[in-house]
Amino acid sequence: MEKSLIDRRFEDIEENLKVIRENIAQAALDSGRTASDIHLMAVTKTVEPIFINHAIELGIDLIGENKVQELESKRENLHLEHCDVHLIGHLQTNKVKKIVGRVSMIQSVDSIHLAREIAKQSAARSVTTDILLEVNIGHEESKTGFLPEQLGDSLAEISSLNAVQVQGLMAIPPICDSETQARKFFSDMHQLFVDILAKKLDNINMNILSMGMSGDYRAAILEGANLVRIGSALFGARKY
Ligand SMILES: *Cc1c(COP(=O)(O)O)cnc(C)c1O
Repeated sequence: MEKSLIDRRFEDIEENLKVIRENIAQAALDSGRTASDIHLMAVTKTVEPIFINHAIELGIDLIGENKVQELESKRENLHLEHCDVHLIGHLQTNKVKKIVGRVSMIQSVDSIHLAREIAKQSAARSVTTDILLEVNIGHEESKTGFLPEQLGDSLAEISSLNAVQVQGLMAIPPICDSETQARKFFSDMHQLFVDILAKKLDNINMNILSMGMSGDYRAAILEGANLVRIGSALFGARKY
């Protein structure tokens, strides 16, 4: 890529990040919190390492990748000394081996079966893997994830798995026509989060409520998200 194009994209990322940080700070205040209560993840799928590294230089300390293979192909070119990596995309059981120990959290745990396999592979490596449970909050047939009404039973079983540590919940709500509609899903998620927290289950932490993407992160924060996952609003539209 031409140097002038790279420089222009660097400037875009800087400007975008400034706007995102201002929006996060405002939504945090509007929900009775401060900017430091909200963790910003940069979602880096399809983004080249040079631009990811630029975001890291600007203070991004958490990135999210969707695919094991894409992450591994980029990793040696990423400056990750002060930046954590989470997996946020659907994970097939046969790929678990390749990711355990390679990321600091797997946010996209969408079945008991997957949680069991992560526990098994973690135990084999003598590590504990932090996970979030992905909730299919809109009961969409096209999506994987725990249905809200199944979560209680599933948590009971997952809490008995020694080598995984649940740290919270993650969701991608259905595409909504209105902000009111989106906020209802986010507030349902927050209610689940609060209810589980109140149960004080052994071996289950509810520290992280991961929801909100480029189009709806303000609404998510207003309803209680404390981790937002932002890709295109930071890096520009993805080219596949
Ligand atoms: C791609 C992706 C995002 C970011 O989406 P944008 O709309 O580009 O911000 C967030 N979460 C998950 C799970 C994703 O796959």
